[in-house]
Amino acid sequence: MGFEVYKFGGASVQNATGVKNLVEVLRKTEIGDLVIVISAMGKMTNALEDVVAGYFEATLKSDTLELVEAFHHNIALELFENPSAPVFKEIQTLLNELKGFLQRNKSPDYDFVYDQVVCYGELLSTTIVNAYLEQEGYRSTWHDIREYLKTDTSYREGKVNWEVTMRNLSRKLPRKGIQLTQGFIASDANGFSTTLGREGSDYTAAIIAYCLNAERVTIWKDVPGVLSADPRYFEDAVLLNFISYQEAIELAFYGASVIHPKTLQPLQRKEIPLFVKSFLNPENSGTQVSIGQLIEPHVPCYIRKTNQVLIALSSLDFSFMAEENIGEIFKLLGQYKMKVDLIQNSAISFSVCVDNKYKNLEALVVKLRADFKVTVHQDVSLYTLRHATDKALVQLEKNKEVLLKQVMQNTVQLVTL
Ligand code: ASP
Ligand code: MG
Repeated sequence: MGFEVYKFGGASVQNATGVKNLVEVLRKTEIGDLVIVISAMGKMTNALEDVVAGYFEATLKSDTLELVEAFHHNIALELFENPSAPVFKEIQTLLNELKGFLQRNKSPDYDFVYDQVVCYGELLSTTIVNAYLEQEGYRSTWHDIREYLKTDTSYREGKVNWEVTMRNLSRKLPRKGIQLTQGFIASDANGFSTTLGREGSDYTAAIIAYCLNAERVTIWKDVPGVLSADPRYFEDAVLLNFISYQEAIELAFYGASVIHPKTLQPLQRKEIPLFVKSFLNPENSGTQVSIGQLIEPHVPCYIRKTNQVLIALSSLDFSFMAEENIGEIFKLLGQYKMKVDLIQNSAISFSVCVDNKYKNLEALVVKLRADFKVTVHQDVSLYTLRHATDKALVQLEKNKEVLLKQVMQNTVQLVTL
């Protein structure tokens, strides 16, 4: 087996048991040369987001930071028998660095500060896991991914500088043995921390695999693989054994949350297969995403996105919704960072279902009202049914108030109240 990349998410290392289990996964899968990418432990990214929010509201609840501190310290206490093991000091050094930053910082730029703070989740998790691997007899080397993975200065959604990243990784990251590093975080040309967007660790794994021509990438999850639906909301969710890149990109585009959308593109380009497997049952085959048939088994796939906003627009003077109107609308949607999930237009109206991720809805609507008649439905759900069958559609529409329905070749989308 050639060189591969494993990615472990927050749920897989949410406590000491999780970290121990990670070692079990390595044992059971008989790894060779490997890069391990790890996210922040459990909900630590959320906790660090709270630290940032508190800092800006000048009500820095110091207990949030204490919580982060205690969380990591307690996991370390459970993992390391020797209380004077160097890892305790390493954890403290990182936390002191973070506190030092918060004390010294003068930047009013929220997103910049966010990245300088939130990156500690991954720095801490990898420090702990690396020390534990060593205690368990693995020779693994910890790397600060920020020395390799370079982005621009779009804090909170850094755009990868592929050229520099490729050069750094291929020159400096060994392809022999076990290398352990952080997902999600990176740095800009000046060495300030950046992040790749929430849930970005899968993307990191793909970037590394792409730059180093890995043989495969495995994402270890708390689910058996990619399912045809979220079992919390749909009854007949089944495990998909195989999905083509194309289909996986479509599913991710429509909002399937299992694979981060940006993750698939670099892998597809080099045809590096992606495996999604359960860290609880590492022997099971999980889901494979690679070139080949569309989807197996061929079943309807359901995707549900909540908290969407449906905006319906028509011209004030009953004139047609034509190119320049629509062009104007899209310009505004872009300006206000609305993620567009669905559009539908007729001669005199234009509807768009968006994700108000950046909370810019009110400002956008004010702008739109200057030129259009605007109706807004907040808090709607968007359902996408891929490989739709009549039966599946009937089932999906049952007991729902449908505001808008769009039927394309084998894909149906519904916006419901
Ligand atoms: N820790 C980051 C987050 O929770 C990145 C990731 O988990 O992929 O968003
Ligand atoms: Mg996470």
